[in-house]
Amino acid sequence: LFSGRVEFLLSAPQLKHLPDPDYPEIAFAGRSNVGKSSLINALVQRKAIARTSVTPGRTQELNFFEVGDPTQFRLVDMPGYGFAKAPLKVVDNWRKLVRTFLRGRVPLKRTMVLVDSRHGLKDTDREMMTMLDEAAVGYRIVLTKADKVKASELEAVRSKVEEEVRKHPAAYPQMHVTSSEKGMGLEELRAAILSDIRE
Ligand code: GDP
Repeated sequence: LFSGRVEFLLSAPQLKHLPDPDYPEIAFAGRSNVGKSSLINALVQRKAIARTSVTPGRTQELNFFEVGDPTQFRLVDMPGYGFAKAPLKVVDNWRKLVRTFLRGRVPLKRTMVLVDSRHGLKDTDREMMTMLDEAAVGYRIVLTKADKVKASELEAVRSKVEEEVRKHPAAYPQMHVTSSEKGMGLEELRAAILSDIRE
């Protein structure tokens, strides 16, 4: 499925631009530069179907991709967050768009919250998790760029994040450790996504 048809569907800067809720959806969230585009591209084995935001804080759209022929599900690339210099208005728009999407999106089966293996959880990730808890949208924590840290550091970050994530009602206690660069953890994540869309 992941190596077959993947197509960009549309970009929704506002909720009125959302596609009809026809297929199960899996969303991807994370701080700007966490490796979200790289992970989406690696999962679907494309070089650049998901694109890095050139100007952090400017991309405020939800990008939809269709997977399968005929379509089996959609991937939703949510706007990155946590950029230091974003104007208040941009952050406010982000919050409104994401919160409303999460609360009202019936076909949304799961959200993948990406966290950099080097940094662990930041306050903006905590805000994201709280929004997901409040919207009752189940989510998985995905550590990214695992190739950038030593095994011992990875274990330390992992257990620290896991301990905190356990307190969030809508979070899966078990995390995924990935590296888009090295292909690590991708097959497991694909399997998890397939089980999520079938729920
Ligand atoms: P986004 O802003 O979250 O979409 O992040 P990108 O996917 O554009 O990645 C940000 C930077 O991190 C880029 O320079 C990527 O090459 C790098 N990066 C992403 N994933 C990995 C990874 O698994 N390993 C390493 N070493 N670098 C990565």
